[in-house]
Amino acid sequence: MQFIVRQSGLADIADKVEAGERLTEADAERLFATKDLNALGALADLANQRRNGRRASYIVNRYINYSNYCILSCQFCAFSKKKRDADGFQLSSAQIVDKAREALALGITELHIVGGLHPSLPFSYYTDFLRELMALDPRLQLKCFTAIEVLHLAWLAKKSVRDTLLELKAAGLASLTGGGAEIFRKEVRSAIAKGKESAAEYLDVHRTWHQLGGRSTCTMLYGHVETVADRVDHMRQLRALQDETGGFTGFIPLPYQPDNNGIPVDHPPTGFDQLRTLAVARLYLDNFGHITAYWIGMGLKMAQVALSYGADDIHGTIVEERIFHMAGAKSPQLQTEKELVKAIREAGRTPVQRDTFYQPIKVWDDPEAAGVAKAEAGGDASGERARETNEAIHAG
Ligand code: SF4
Repeated sequence: MQFIVRQSGLADIADKVEAGERLTEADAERLFATKDLNALGALADLANQRRNGRRASYIVNRYINYSNYCILSCQFCAFSKKKRDADGFQLSSAQIVDKAREALALGITELHIVGGLHPSLPFSYYTDFLRELMALDPRLQLKCFTAIEVLHLAWLAKKSVRDTLLELKAAGLASLTGGGAEIFRKEVRSAIAKGKESAAEYLDVHRTWHQLGGRSTCTMLYGHVETVADRVDHMRQLRALQDETGGFTGFIPLPYQPDNNGIPVDHPPTGFDQLRTLAVARLYLDNFGHITAYWIGMGLKMAQVALSYGADDIHGTIVEERIFHMAGAKSPQLQTEKELVKAIREAGRTPVQRDTFYQPIKVWDDPEAAGVAKAEAGGDASGERARETNEAIHAG
């Protein structure tokens, strides 16, 4: 590695990385500017392996969008609809529970639930479906709502953000999602998501949730009208909040999808840009445990390569994804656990099924892990295996 890095002109940054020193924003901008992707990747891989060894994780989860009606009209969004639109939808609690029941048979441990800012559903709709899902299976981890949804629910409930989060937590909310961060700089935010919450509001919802003992992920939507300096500024603000609370479990950069929305981009993020962004994130966000390569946005093939460029997680089985696909994502709607394990293993990493909080549920290829022989032989026994492991976890 030393030879590759010395040739790249990044030797001084490499010294810092090797010494465990924090990188500055200027360092991050230089890393973004390098054309030596392999040197950057080697450094990010060093930082990743120091934290996570050769393990790479995935989650067996299902996405549910309860509705795509939204009172806002973020320019980049292809998901939101108005009541007059033919392709608007809204699920009842019973429909949400039915989807969850079907997915439980696949061995999911997490439901990831988000929607638009619905114009008329009452606050009780949200707490009811959380409670009904907990009644269906209390072992399910409910990762729900973006920061802007929480602000909308607080407005509906006529309560503070803190009290709203406490009510949602009491109803079963396990984790907030990281969606809606976009790019924090005000001018970019106005250009792509006018009317959405400010960066300070996004960060404050997550801060409050962390102060209540909650955990969440965070994101960055990149590859539209922002500059590299805007990306670094975005990560600077996330790193600062993480220093304060330690409540972020992982960072998930989201490559922009350019179709069916108000921000057409001729050149959405290339493979080069996706890998360098993950690598810089791994190096700059030194207080984050995990960096996720989001296969829905990148495709599984790129997410697999990203495991050598600083990422240690490739997200989940998903089952039904709408938001990225309505904006033109070409990836499939779901991945089987078998495909995710194969992709990780082929990249030379040890696959780990994780929970919502990136805690290991099962380490594949570990002779000590129960069920390996069965999994290797059967492949499709994964649902049963995840369920057994969950029982062990919840018993503990
Ligand atoms: S990004 Fe979210 S808040 Fe903005 S229009 Fe789409 S659904 Fe609504």
